[in-house]
Amino acid sequence: MPRDIITLACTECKRRNYTTTKNKKLAKGRLEVKKFCPHDRSHTLHRETK
Ligand SMILES: [Zn+2]
Repeated sequence: MPRDIITLACTECKRRNYTTTKNKKLAKGRLEVKKFCPHDRSHTLHRETK
C-alpha cells in the first residue's frame, strides 16, 4: 500500500510545520489537524498542502 508524504501547513501563518504520511486510498479529502505552531505559540489548525 503506497503511503505518500504530505506537508501540514498552519492555516494562521501559512508556515509548514509538520510532515506526515497518509494512505490516499483510505483518507479522502484534505487532512486537517490541530497542532502546535511554534510561530503562533498556540495550537492552530494545520491543513494538508503540497
Ligand atoms: Zn502558525
